[in-house]
Amino acid sequence: MNVDYIIVGFGLAGLAFAETLEQNNKSFIVFEDSSQNSSLVAGGVYNPVILKRFTPVWDAIDQLKMAIPFYRDLEKKLNKKFDHTFNIQRVFASIEEQNNWFTACDKTFFTEYMVPEVIQNNNEHINAPFGFGKLINTGKINTQVLLKEYKKYLANKDVIQFEQFEYALLKIDDHSVSYKDINAKYIVFCEGFGVKKNPYFNNIPLREAKGELLTIHAPDLKIDYLLKSSVFIMPLGNDHYKVGATFNWIDKTLLPTEEGKNELLIKLEKVITTDFEVVDQVAGIRPTVKDRRPILGKHHHHKQLAILNGLGTRGVMLAPKMAKLLFSYLENEISLSKDIDIGRFDGQ
Ligand SMILES: Cc1cc2nc3c(=O)[nH]c(=O)nc-3n(C[C@H](O)[C@H](O)[C@H](O)COP(=O)(O)OP(=O)(O)OC[C@H]3O[C@@H](n4cnc5c(N)ncnc54)[C@H](O)[C@@H]3O)c2cc1C
Repeated sequence: MNVDYIIVGFGLAGLAFAETLEQNNKSFIVFEDSSQNSSLVAGGVYNPVILKRFTPVWDAIDQLKMAIPFYRDLEKKLNKKFDHTFNIQRVFASIEEQNNWFTACDKTFFTEYMVPEVIQNNNEHINAPFGFGKLINTGKINTQVLLKEYKKYLANKDVIQFEQFEYALLKIDDHSVSYKDINAKYIVFCEGFGVKKNPYFNNIPLREAKGELLTIHAPDLKIDYLLKSSVFIMPLGNDHYKVGATFNWIDKTLLPTEEGKNELLIKLEKVITTDFEVVDQVAGIRPTVKDRRPILGKHHHHKQLAILNGLGTRGVMLAPKMAKLLFSYLENEISLSKDIDIGRFDGQ
């Protein structure tokens, strides 16, 4: 079998790259072994404001300009809804935070997103004596639905294999690669934290940022926006909410833990005062880079081997733009900016 590309890994990175190939009439085959699940458990939130300090997320406006139409077009293609817009309400901890909010609202960058007023709390089950700052034009991609539907779409075309890619079987020639009976011009590795097992790219400075999330049932809470305090509480419908997320830089397993659950519960009980029940808990590893930028590019020696990784905590916004940049680089030799080029780590 001859294809233009082999893609290893089908999280948000693999999906965005596969879709970019489809848009450009390139043939490909995907390998996915369910060894990582960051994209599947992700909150899926897109929001261009860092809610700790009210500062812009790096390159966010440009990323959103590409990401929103990308996902909306995919909704049409797959005939499924997974982009859900909602407002975000950030709980203010003090008068000082209210003032910082107004200062940030004055910046042109934020005018489309930050509402310059203090929203009073009128929900008796929420503890927010200083009120909220409200963000608009934000939302979430239901990544579980998106990935499931796209996998089905690829399975129908017979271009996805649900099995582990075995690195030892990859043969690299001067201008192509081959794997079992498949010949391809390029292979693009999109394994998230799974790249640690990839002998060609396991030296990239990826740090495991394990995150855990709870799903709760809280019948009296009644909020239809994402509430952000020391945790976020995201409405899922039917009085269910996703609560997250933890950051653990040591544990590399995908298993939910009691520590993660307790950390979230302690924070949650400071924000909401109503009864709730925990109905689910999940965990995943965010592929985070030490300089907090994605990693794109070719292997320093084998130019047919490429990587799309390091999407960190913001895969939803980053993946569509990064996939497009990598494609232009591989197909049209449009160079990557130093910020995201794997070459920035040469010699380190
Ligand atoms: C708790 C949590 C909450 C998050 N919340 C958000 C959020 O609200 N918004 C946001 O934008 N981002 C969020 N993220 C981050 C987001 O999930 C990541 O940025 C994104 O999922 C990374 O995608 P990826 O495709 O690079 O990696 P992954 O999702 O890890 O995908 C890699 C894929 O490669 C496969 N794979 C690996 N090795 C092999 C192999 N040898 N053969 C075959 N397949 C292989 C794995 O099975 C996996 O499916 C969150 C992450 C976590 C953990």
